[in-house]
Amino acid sequence: KAKAEGRNRFHYFSESLQSIAIRRMSVHSDLRTAIKREEFVVFYQPQFDSHGKSIIGIEALVRWQHPSKGLLNPADFLDIAEETGLIVEIDKLVISAASKQYAQWKSQLPSFDNIKMAINISARQFKDEGFLPTIQTTLEEFSLDPSNIELEIVESELVQDFTIALSVINRLNDLGIAVAIDDFGTGYSSLSYLKRLNVQTLKVDRSFLEDVPTSEVSCRLLRGLINLGKSMELKIVVEGVETQEHLNKCIEYDADVSQGYFFAKPMIASDIEKFF
Ligand code: C2E
Ligand code: MG
Ligand code: MG
Ligand code: MG
Repeated sequence: KAKAEGRNRFHYFSESLQSIAIRRMSVHSDLRTAIKREEFVVFYQPQFDSHGKSIIGIEALVRWQHPSKGLLNPADFLDIAEETGLIVEIDKLVISAASKQYAQWKSQLPSFDNIKMAINISARQFKDEGFLPTIQTTLEEFSLDPSNIELEIVESELVQDFTIALSVINRLNDLGIAVAIDDFGTGYSSLSYLKRLNVQTLKVDRSFLEDVPTSEVSCRLLRGLINLGKSMELKIVVEGVETQEHLNKCIEYDADVSQGYFFAKPMIASDIEKFF
């Protein structure tokens, strides 16, 4: 019996490995085409001040308008884009599109002053020689100030090549570009590493809002993370604010920025304009 089960399990396993390989190949080749045809669309999600009252930032989030599969989320393709390195090209398309959009909003929307555009980048950019020049050229092309944008890097990616991350972040700082650590609290990075990175912002991962406010421990942990960031003199963004109760805790614990479905989901550019 054990043998039969083992064989079945093996059969199941090899089948799923095969389907993983097939998915990888098809997504990979579709992504190449998508980059050439610029099939990516940028969605935007507003970020709110410490009272949850006014917009102080906007995060750019990539979507893929796939010709046959429809609109895809990062979860559908980001892993393959990372593995294959194509993410480097995708990020550059997003940086360019978001900067262009920012320039347009700045000239069209009267209350758009002091809004920051947060753009997610893969830590792979750090190893790409073209990265810093691309950023600079893009800022110049759209007459943006470096302080208009903030780059977000996921915590777990930062620690993989810490020395490189450290030096690229320093160079970004020299250019006046702020850097945020995304999904903070999920990346196993040691605090002594974090201390050495010249980042300006921590984005507390949305998993820390689970069971808030019902669980005392979860509330204290959220407060602790916010205080930890504050003691490092960082700007604290809480992601995944879905309810009034979540927002109340962010206000009580004095987070600087709140972002989440409670305010708005990521949306197309024209819908953002309705907020202003
Ligand atoms: P992230 O940067 O942490 O962005 C937040 C994610 O949580 C977004 O998912 C957003 O739609 C979602 N979200 C926002 N508010 C809420 C909420 O209240 N509840 C819940 N459950 N979810 C919320 P999305 O757009 O699917 O992006 C997933 C991840 O993909 C991002 O996580 C980011 O790490 C990555 N990503 C997105 N765009 C880019 C990009 O242009 N380049 C790179 N390298 N990565 C990107
Ligand atoms: Mg982000
Ligand atoms: Mg995040
Ligand atoms: Mg995330």
